[in-house]
Amino acid sequence: MTGRTEPVIGLEVHVQLATDQKLFCRCSPAFGSEPNTRVCPLCLGLPGALPVTNGGAVELAVRAALGLECTVHETSVFARKNYFYPDLPKGYQISQFERPLATGGRLVVEEGGESFAVRIRRLHLEEDAGKSLHDRRPGATAVDLNRTGVPLAEIVSEPDLTSPARARAFLDALKRLMEYLEVSDCNMEEGSLRVDANVSLRPAGSEGMGTKTELKNLNSFSGVEKGLSLEIERQAGLLEGGGTVVQETILYDERRSRVRPMRRKEESHDYRYFPDPDLPPLVVSRERIEEIRAALPERPLERRRRFREEHGLPAYDAGVLTARRGLADYFEAAVEHAPDPKTASNWVMGPVLQAVNERSLSPASFPVTPAGLGELLGLVVDGTISQNTGKEVFVRMLDTGRRAGEIVEEEGLAQVRDEDALRGWVREVLEGHPDAVERYRGGEERLLGFLVGQVMKRSAGKADPRRVNQLLRKALEG
Ligand SMILES: [Zn+2]
Repeated sequence: MTGRTEPVIGLEVHVQLATDQKLFCRCSPAFGSEPNTRVCPLCLGLPGALPVTNGGAVELAVRAALGLECTVHETSVFARKNYFYPDLPKGYQISQFERPLATGGRLVVEEGGESFAVRIRRLHLEEDAGKSLHDRRPGATAVDLNRTGVPLAEIVSEPDLTSPARARAFLDALKRLMEYLEVSDCNMEEGSLRVDANVSLRPAGSEGMGTKTELKNLNSFSGVEKGLSLEIERQAGLLEGGGTVVQETILYDERRSRVRPMRRKEESHDYRYFPDPDLPPLVVSRERIEEIRAALPERPLERRRRFREEHGLPAYDAGVLTARRGLADYFEAAVEHAPDPKTASNWVMGPVLQAVNERSLSPASFPVTPAGLGELLGLVVDGTISQNTGKEVFVRMLDTGRRAGEIVEEEGLAQVRDEDALRGWVREVLEGHPDAVERYRGGEERLLGFLVGQVMKRSAGKADPRRVNQLLRKALEG
């Protein structure tokens, strides 16, 4: 292949469904327990143990599929995917193959001012396999079956992504959507969101497809972007040198920042899929699907647009505030109590978000309630306290849980707006600095700032600086 090439990328994303039971038994899918403590005969693959489908997991998968604008099928079929691996004692994984739960959706991604749609080929239910532990015993591999049977939705995109950066933007949007829909916590460190990527190269502008490789071991969104870039470079190098790309699995080594081929990739027929005889077809009635659709919460893009229209916020603010559902909820609750939406937005994007990040808090359990923030903003906007004092009061509210009004009153932080007091300080300062007054009147206008500072000092920081400014100008120019 000569000339310019372009990448064609598709993603397969596994998200762990946020239920408190596994997909086919009642064991807990919780992360972080001692190995092999959350298992039962079914998890262990003991003969005679029969699976029973967890309806809660099915509902979450339907919700995810509807959020992705998929067609949800009333009848889908669980199938056995057969392969041997030490962490899979029963010798097969229960998944869906020929008749998945949902097909044909799309996700619209808005990123940096551009917008593009990625088609979703399918979404199906699947149980997780166990986990091999290579670092528990020297020279040996141990097996932990706690993860066996954990409910997953596998989301497969069409190869509509044309760059590693877009792949990352798609993942950000997908994660945000899953969090908004409360389908999954999407915690990558705990394995509740996992990504594999398919990538091939084709001549720029053509419609054909080159041979694709599957990229694995992508442990973060930045890893997805970096791994894809390296694999695209590797394929381009092969093609430019007159070689060919082989369909194989490629491992991304984040530490060494390189990719290396692992093995020939299996074809789906290698897995000898067949309908699981222990499970009846999965039926979700049309009525139930429509009920779930009617109860879907607002999705991130819809909310972003509404924030712009309803609250009149700039696109940037709407993007930051809706990046996390908890933050968006907090903002909307604060707007109810705040003097105006833009002031609320500035404070939520500023001091609130900063404290959330620095103190590792969730907006839902933030110590300053939305109403409490609204009260504080009211005091700033009506001039009772200055912007800077407001920020100090905010920190004190965080640390003590007290109300803004209480803190301002008990600590005497309110600005002095008593005209007699202000005029007295202004007169004293003018009398005390005759040369500054003379130079100001001679044209050195920047000395106004110095004089304002002197009045503020005399008032122990409590004078209302806007009023001081007016009074000084009047006295100097009058
Ligand atoms: Zn179990």
